[in-house]
Amino acid sequence: MTQTPESPSTMTGRALDDWLHRIRALHIEVEAILQSLAASLDDNPCARCTRVCCREVFCRESVESDFLRFVLGPRVEAYDENAGWFMPGAGCRLSCGRPLVCYEYFCEEFDAQDVGTIRLLSRALKTLYANALAGQHILAVDDIGRIGAQRLRILHDRLEGLRDRANAALRQSLDARLRGKSAGGAVDDPRGAA
Ligand code: SF4
Ligand code: SF4
Repeated sequence: MTQTPESPSTMTGRALDDWLHRIRALHIEVEAILQSLAASLDDNPCARCTRVCCREVFCRESVESDFLRFVLGPRVEAYDENAGWFMPGAGCRLSCGRPLVCYEYFCEEFDAQDVGTIRLLSRALKTLYANALAGQHILAVDDIGRIGAQRLRILHDRLEGLRDRANAALRQSLDARLRGKSAGGAVDDPRGAA
């Protein structure tokens, strides 16, 4: 079902509309934090990977899932039926609305690094949307306008909690990097020169 953030398909009231838009905003915020966490790794192997794992078959969920289409909004029109969202040399063209599997970082290239927190947060993002409507995960719900206000409120609160956890993890990661840099900088500290 085609939707835009401005007009979810079968919205039945202002309250539902508000909850869905708040969920969309929080979801985008969490995606941005997860991407920043991945970018804050000492060595992100994707940048130099010669066998990139992105495939149109993975990207497709972002345009087939009613929820992800809602997150994407009008950007859905830029989908390429052959390449999906992948652009050689530039990587993923999506800053938000990616399939959730794209945040799991199960690639063995990441195993040498401390990606436990990112994987934990990504798994939490996936599981918080379980049982959104009639036992279905939100990605499988064919019309998110049918999700009730009570369930939307629960999803919203879970997302808020996850956003706060993810922000704390990002702060911790950036602090650790800064501490590492300042410790490394001390080697060349002119005040230490004899
Ligand atoms: S996740 Fe692994 S296989 Fe995929 S692009 Fe990154 S390094 Fe390459
Ligand atoms: S990261 Fe982007 S390009 Fe890669 S599979 Fe996911 S949506 Fe497609």
